[in-house]
Amino acid sequence: MENIIKSMELYALENQVPIMQKEGINFMVECIRQNEVKTILEIGSAIGYSAIQMCLSDPHIKLVTIERDEARYKEAVKNIRKCNMEDRIKIHHADALDIEIEGVYDLIFIDAAKAQYIKFFEKYDQNLENNGVIVSDNLKFHGFVETKERIKNRNTRQLVQKIRKYISYLEENNYYDTVFYDIGDGVAISKKK
Ligand code: SAH
Ligand code: MG
Repeated sequence: MENIIKSMELYALENQVPIMQKEGINFMVECIRQNEVKTILEIGSAIGYSAIQMCLSDPHIKLVTIERDEARYKEAVKNIRKCNMEDRIKIHHADALDIEIEGVYDLIFIDAAKAQYIKFFEKYDQNLENNGVIVSDNLKFHGFVETKERIKNRNTRQLVQKIRKYISYLEENNYYDTVFYDIGDGVAISKKK
């Protein structure tokens, strides 16, 4: 198992796949324990790294994950198979904004296109268990979100604005209590009131 994980990390590095770093994984594992999470819905599988890591933390966890990029989806399928987790991880090759997912989950992990976080949040709210949590990743966007300087690249600037908007959206959301953590690239945990 150690070797499979290592080779995924290497693949991510070589192919610039933004997988969760150690600190983030540890944080997720802690969050899973504290909230007694048994079912997870992940938006943005990439190569299956975070999905596999979360499943490794507890043998009872079942996870559904969605990835729209074909190459990454295929890589994830391979990795899930290598880890013998086909019966625990169900992966969909789809755009998370198009597909309909059935059932409710204890934890929903949003780790996909940052410009669409509000849409993901609103769409998947109906798939959250009453006592469940929604975790959002990359809210610092490599420090850009907190910077006071003017960001030169137009696309980056727009993305940063969208993330700031999402942060305000969470802060002002009357149905959820959100706590922001300075972990990894910035994580938020939202709990239904
Ligand atoms: N959770 C992974 C990393 C995900 S990177 C890990 O930590 O190991 C973000 C992924 O989200 C990318 O692979 C990208 O293709 C995917 N993505 C972005 N927007 C998406 C969407 N609308 N639907 C499904 N996948 C999406
Ligand atoms: Mg991420």
